[in-house]
Amino acid sequence: MSTAHIEVKGVSKVFGGTVLALQDIHLDIPRGQFVCLLGPSGCGKSTLLNAIAGFAAPSSGSIVADGRPVAAPGPERGMVFQEYALFPWMTVADNVAFGLRLKGVPRAQADATVERLLRTLSLQEFRHRFPKELSGGMRQRVAIARVLALDSPIMLMDEPFGALDALTRRSLQDELLRIWSELHKTIIFVTHSIEEALYLADRIVVMTYRPGTIKRDLLVGLPRLRDPAAPGFNALKRELDQLVMEEQQRHQHDELKGDINGDVPSFPSRRKRGYVPI
Ligand code: ADP
Ligand code: MG
Repeated sequence: MSTAHIEVKGVSKVFGGTVLALQDIHLDIPRGQFVCLLGPSGCGKSTLLNAIAGFAAPSSGSIVADGRPVAAPGPERGMVFQEYALFPWMTVADNVAFGLRLKGVPRAQADATVERLLRTLSLQEFRHRFPKELSGGMRQRVAIARVLALDSPIMLMDEPFGALDALTRRSLQDELLRIWSELHKTIIFVTHSIEEALYLADRIVVMTYRPGTIKRDLLVGLPRLRDPAAPGFNALKRELDQLVMEEQQRHQHDELKGDINGDVPSFPSRRKRGYVPI
C-alpha cells in the first residue's frame, strides 16, 4: 500500500490518434504537499490535471486519489479554473453554497460554512453581488471559496491566477498559502510562470513539450514567505528558466513547422458533456 494522497501510475494520453500529450507519467504526491506543474503552453499540464480531476480518462495507466481509483469527478477533488466557472445568475453567497445544497447539507449548517468562508476570503461585503459585478480577483476568491465549502482534501488549480494583474495575483497567492497552511490541503497547481511556481510550491514538476513527460521533479526547500529577490530564489529561477526555455524552443520549432495542433487553449469538451463547475 502506498501512502501517497495522489498516485499517477504510468499515465499516457493520446489525442486524435497522433498527439501524444502525456507519456508514461508517474507521480506520487503525499498528503498536504503543494505541487506546481510547470511548463510552456502545450506540454500537457491541463491534460494531466483533467485526468486527475476525472474529466478525461487517460489512454493508458491509472490514477488513485484519496484512496480511490479516479473514474469521474468527485467532491474530494475540487477544481479551480482560470476562467472563473461561477454561475452568473447566482449571488456570491449562493455560488459558495451551491455544492453544500447539492450535498443536502442542512440550511443552518450551510449558512454557517458560507459565512466563515466569505470571511476567510474577504468577501463578506460582496455576498449579495453577482459575478459580473466583481473584479477578476474577487471572482477567483469566490471560486476558491466554493471548493473550500465542499472541504475537498485535494485542490486542483489550472492557471487560476493567470488572468489577474500582478498585485492581485500576489495577494491571492498569499491567501492561498495561508489557507493551505491552515487547512492542510493537497494542492496541484498548474502554471507556466516560473516565479509563481517558486513562490508557492513545495515541489515543482517541470514537464517536457510533446510528448509530455516529467523533465525535472524538484523539491523547493526555501522557507516561506519567500522573497523573489533573495539569492536562493534567483538561483533556482535561473535553473528553471533554462529547463522551461528548452521546452519552449521545441514548441516554437513545432509551430514553425506549421503544426496547428500545438496549442489548444482550454479543454473544450467539458461544457459539452454537461460538467457542473463546482
Ligand atoms: P498545457 O495545459 O500544458 O498548455 P494541454 O494539456 O492543454 O497543455 O495540451 C497538451 C497537448 O495536447 C497540446 O499539444 C494540445 O494541442 C493537445 N490537446 C489538448 N487537449 C486536446 C483535445 N481535446 N483534443 C486534441 N488535442 C488536445
Ligand atoms: Mg493548460
